Amino acid sequence: MNEKGNISINTENILPIIKKWLYSDKDIFLREVVSNAIDAITKHKKVASLGESAKPERYRVDVKVNKKDKTITVSDNGIGMTFEEVKQYINQIAFSGAIDFFEKYKDKTDAQDQIIGHFGLGFYSVFMVSDFVEIQTRSFVESEKPVYWKSDGASGYEMSEGSRQTHGTDVILHINSDKENKDLVNVWKMREILEKYCRFLPVEIYLSEDGEKKDDKQEEKPVNNTSPLWLKDAKECTDEQYKEFYREVFHDFKEPLFWIHLKMDYPVNLRGILYFPKLTNEYNTLEGKIQLYCNQVYVADNIKEVIPEFLLLLKGVIDCPDLPLNVSRSFLQNDGYSGKIAGHISKKVSDKLKQLYKDDAEQYSKYWDDINIFVKYGCLKEEKFYDKVKDCIIYKDIYGKYHTLDQYKKAVEDKKQKDKIYYVTDMQKQAQYINMFKEHELNAVILDNILDSHFISFIESKNQGTSFMGIDSGIKDVLGEDSKTEGFDDVKKFFEDLLKEKNVAVEIQSLKASDVSAVITANEYENRMKSMQTMYGMDLPSTNTLVLNIQNPVVKKLAAIEDEQKKKDVAIYVYQLAMLAAGKLEKEDMTDFLRRNNEMLNKTAD
Ligand code: ADP
Ligand code: MG
Repeated sequence: MNEKGNISINTENILPIIKKWLYSDKDIFLREVVSNAIDAITKHKKVASLGESAKPERYRVDVKVNKKDKTITVSDNGIGMTFEEVKQYINQIAFSGAIDFFEKYKDKTDAQDQIIGHFGLGFYSVFMVSDFVEIQTRSFVESEKPVYWKSDGASGYEMSEGSRQTHGTDVILHINSDKENKDLVNVWKMREILEKYCRFLPVEIYLSEDGEKKDDKQEEKPVNNTSPLWLKDAKECTDEQYKEFYREVFHDFKEPLFWIHLKMDYPVNLRGILYFPKLTNEYNTLEGKIQLYCNQVYVADNIKEVIPEFLLLLKGVIDCPDLPLNVSRSFLQNDGYSGKIAGHISKKVSDKLKQLYKDDAEQYSKYWDDINIFVKYGCLKEEKFYDKVKDCIIYKDIYGKYHTLDQYKKAVEDKKQKDKIYYVTDMQKQAQYINMFKEHELNAVILDNILDSHFISFIESKNQGTSFMGIDSGIKDVLGEDSKTEGFDDVKKFFEDLLKEKNVAVEIQSLKASDVSAVITANEYENRMKSMQTMYGMDLPSTNTLVLNIQNPVVKKLAAIEDEQKKKDVAIYVYQLAMLAAGKLEKEDMTDFLRRNNEMLNKTAD
């Protein structure tokens, strides 16, 4: 039964291209071989259940590393293959699969198309890392002889009678000597890849090194967990199990806030667990990770075609067994597959949020600092999501209390805040304004994350009569005490002339805080433009207004200063202090400010 043959299609040109293409993700070869082994076992389970073959004591996949021979062997005790099957499935299907794959995608070099790197190559992917590959296989059909197969993936194959004694298959990869494969023939490297792609496969996988002395007393431990938590019924899972699973999968030792166990049978089959993570600090707010599995085989993280984008801020696992293996982006988009999943998940998420808010609003507000960016992102991305969760969007005020929009409006109704909702974008930089608001027993909400400027406009568009204003834009409206400002016209004019080139307007007000000589107020419209511009990396100058406080002794004295230079020095100082307090003192103004201070310090030290 010896046979030599050419692989039916011309593979010489294909291999190098595929190799190069999948270069960054060539580790998938192991996933492909191991999942074929699992498939073969699943098939054997089936024939065994039909009584056509005896069930082995235990189904298992073995990955063996041989450093001396530079081989990696993957063995299974599955269905095995006959001579004809090897010809058909390996020589024709596996190889033509690679050609199809290549034909389909050869023009798409877009990095975003990397999803295809995750499917479709199958068995052929072994040639990305091997000089040649051998197969020893034996079919469960007892009358069939074992088969040996060998190929370098390019020049052809040879087949003869094999040596395997029991049903199943060994795939022996002779790893090539490419520099980047140097570490491949290593138990730790194999473990790393298996943990990434095969961690939750349904058959036990054992990893060992050839020639390693087996310690009989030590129990063999599989590298994978064959029954991941998402497959269990939510009712059977404890909080501790959810947390444990979270640690195991994400290596995040901060406990998740809460989670949602997903289960859908129709129209799409889906299982999964979504976690709301605790943010590490206020800056890394966008660091989610959703692992996508297909029948417990890891596919990839954060695949936008399958998982609605706004969920990518969460952490979780989603298993979609129906995901077609030869998946392509256009399929996913046209099929509405993603839409169906998105709809289901977004409903589950909004239900959970509503339930949490209803059950315990106080506990919910404790979560808010961590989850608000997610909720807002969801609202901005999906109107439907907003409609569902709008009653559980809350706002934290400068006193640390949480309100819904309506509650907040009621609370400030009788205050002198008119119809505006004042907001803080930076607790530190705007501390001066916040203090002034507090002195006047006024309130403002904190909206300080990167999505908030968009979110504010969104909420305004959704709620007629609601308008937000930055705390630094509103200070004079709110605090102005209509007292007489006459007698200060000259001072105002003096400042105007002095600051003409700096694009700063000047106003006179009477503020309660008499120790403050002046405050900078910003233009709300410009502020919003600016936060957008910063997002797009632009930086345009803004107009500020300097509000002079006539209750302040320095401002009072200014009018009386006769020495022109002295008057100028004091006025500049007043301006710079106000800019400093607003967090806006920059560049040459900052340099000038420091110089003046050093001069003064020098005088003080005399
Ligand atoms: P796919 O798994 O998508 O069918 P592959 O290229 O991975 O494509 O494999 C081609 C075929 O080779 C499989 O469908 C299967 O029939 C056969 N095969 C591969 N590995 C094994 C194995 N370990 N045991 C039995 N059959 C196998
Ligand atoms: Mg396969």
